[in-house]
Amino acid sequence: MPLPLILGFPRIGLNRELKKNLVEPYWKGKISAAELLAAAKDLRARHWALMRDAGVPYVPVNDFSLYDQMLDMSCLLGAVPARYGWTGGTVDLDTYFAMARGRDNATAMEMTKWFDTNYHNIVPELTRDQAFSVSATKIFDEFAEAGENALPVLVGPVTYLSLAKSPDKDFDPVSLLDAVLPVYKEVLSRLKAAGATWVQMDEPCLVTDLTDVQRAAYKAAYAALADSGLQVFLTTYFGGLRDNLDLAFSLPVDCIHVDLVRAPGQFKDCLAKAKETGKGLSLGIVDGRNIWRNDLSASLAVVEEAVAALGDDKVCVAPSCSLLHSPVDLDAETKLDAEIKSWLAFAKQKVDEVVALSKPRAEIADLLAASDKAQESRKTSARIHNPDVQARLAAVTPSMKSRKSPFAARIKAQKAALKLPPFPTTTIGSFPQTKEIRKARADYKAGRIDRDAYEAAMKAEIRAVVDYQEEVGLDVLVHGEAERNDMVEYFGEQLSGFAFTQNGWVQSYGSRCVKPPIIFGDVDRPAPMTVDWAKYAQSCTDHVMKGMLTGPITMLQWSFVRNDQPRERTAMQIALAVRDEVADLEKAGIKVIQIDEAALREGLPLRKSDWQEYLAWAVEAFKLTACTVDDATQIHTHMCYSEFNDIIESIGAMDADVISIETSRSNMELLDAFVTYKYPNEIGPGVYDIHSPRVPPTEDMVVLLDKARDVLRDDQIWVNPDCGLKTRGWAEVKPALANMVAATKALREKAGTKSAAA
Ligand code: GLN
Ligand code: ZN
Repeated sequence: MPLPLILGFPRIGLNRELKKNLVEPYWKGKISAAELLAAAKDLRARHWALMRDAGVPYVPVNDFSLYDQMLDMSCLLGAVPARYGWTGGTVDLDTYFAMARGRDNATAMEMTKWFDTNYHNIVPELTRDQAFSVSATKIFDEFAEAGENALPVLVGPVTYLSLAKSPDKDFDPVSLLDAVLPVYKEVLSRLKAAGATWVQMDEPCLVTDLTDVQRAAYKAAYAALADSGLQVFLTTYFGGLRDNLDLAFSLPVDCIHVDLVRAPGQFKDCLAKAKETGKGLSLGIVDGRNIWRNDLSASLAVVEEAVAALGDDKVCVAPSCSLLHSPVDLDAETKLDAEIKSWLAFAKQKVDEVVALSKPRAEIADLLAASDKAQESRKTSARIHNPDVQARLAAVTPSMKSRKSPFAARIKAQKAALKLPPFPTTTIGSFPQTKEIRKARADYKAGRIDRDAYEAAMKAEIRAVVDYQEEVGLDVLVHGEAERNDMVEYFGEQLSGFAFTQNGWVQSYGSRCVKPPIIFGDVDRPAPMTVDWAKYAQSCTDHVMKGMLTGPITMLQWSFVRNDQPRERTAMQIALAVRDEVADLEKAGIKVIQIDEAALREGLPLRKSDWQEYLAWAVEAFKLTACTVDDATQIHTHMCYSEFNDIIESIGAMDADVISIETSRSNMELLDAFVTYKYPNEIGPGVYDIHSPRVPPTEDMVVLLDKARDVLRDDQIWVNPDCGLKTRGWAEVKPALANMVAATKALREKAGTKSAAA
């Protein structure tokens, strides 16, 4: 029988214990280190017991983390940046958390997205002369804790180094391989001494575009680790091996895990390679990062084919990647519609699926039948399939994805309609989400206050925010988004085809978790979603009121997306739904409409050769959303990042009239992209870093605006913060926006003089 393996299990706990009972109380000083460690031990024990009860023979060890597995690796390897004052020995808990979160005058280490997931890892920071030494006991302690039949998990050396950065920009951390390998070797030999027989090495970089240096590093690394006495289980996930297939199977490892959910097409090639090289093959066939129930019949056929080709001692069955990216337990969902629930599987259910797929067909006949039934219901359910939506999508014409006139003509119409001063000021949408706002929303959700009371509270808030914006002197106003819990959930709740869980939390970073909506069916907008609020806000002022929407790609990126049709089609359905909202806002007299695409860039595929295809439909989806309006209606978009260099042409192709972006932290560096490309439309380069509690002085913003003017035309520039203000307090927002308006006034005077002199 093939071996069922779980590459990693969610560490947050069913009730987010990691957050609520462990790390956050520890950070607040409410529990001691000993209590924290004891509670963590409990949590691990529970997860191991769950897997063992389900029939998993080897449980993963060291997949658990109090913060992040890459941070754990940095501690294991003794790669602690100098600013934390660590003097060697075992990295203690407070140094560990300081690296994650910063302390006093030592800033936190950088965080980045773990490949194309919504999980964030801590980026290793390595110097040219970086020394490494075994500096943590976590993996050994946990291995001992797990008892026998445990599989220790490490991030492999090449992935670890490839994801690292160095303060020295010209230095490639991969060149530290020779320095780090002795430490890996020592770790493996200690594990062997402790009784381990094999080790899991996570090398997801093998599904990315590799440089020659990385390829050579793979060869050198695994040659060096080959005589550890441990069998090496090398995992690849989040995509296909493609041009790295030969490389992966040439490495002296015992078994290779491949992702057959993201890249089902690589199965035959991997099978052939496994046969040729005599290696074991681990079939990543249960989706580790989405919530759909496995099609056991289809999967079993794949497993059987592998077993027939390789023999069952050479085949493992596994989730596509660590279950870290799945919510914990579907059984905890008591409110979800029963039919929808029958289509889903969370981590606990996925463990059962993996185990089932390792059994002979005859033994799982009932499970296969139940799975077939669920698949069949998904294919035919009227909850999923809406012929009206499909017909509408089929009838989309190119003209629906293009504005009536080119930008040059539109901007004239818009200038006449909006009558804005030079360098118009605006904000990104949200204003501080105060305790009172959150309470009103919670009270309304829980039925403690009725619709009228809730609406009155929100309207009062809108009026106050509008009055404030008039007072401080902003030009294009917003309603403040007080009624929105989250920029995706708020819309998802009003669209058909979306479902929400009570407890479907997934770790985002550290103690932070997100609860993504589930897009399960054809998406439709039964009724306007924001129009009444926008109308009310506009009625409070003579200024231009900006309508605020979330774009289709961002909704896609931050949800669990259906897997029974291409992502692109789901994006286009959302685009049509939001397009209706855009049209209704315009009809209601809203002259400026912002469609946020905060997550457009993070949707980029891991392989560069796939970028164009993605960008093409992402841009189409945006345009389908936006291009219903007349020339005089101004479309804005907002993106929360600054690396535009490699996608600037697609940003241009979105053809938004105005785009606001994050630039203050990078000191306007991003604008480089705009130099070479000559972005034709208008831009608001963020001048106020809303991620920091610091109130930026007027002069700082003037400097940033001057930098922007070096690159952009005066008549292109808007003045705005980097992002929404919902996470900030009024005490910071008020002086910061006052300074922003003052900086704009200074700029208008300066620019006026300049053009008068010219
Ligand atoms: N309009 C949203 C806000 O201001 C945008 C948030 C975002 O870009 N993440 O909150
Ligand atoms: Zn943003």
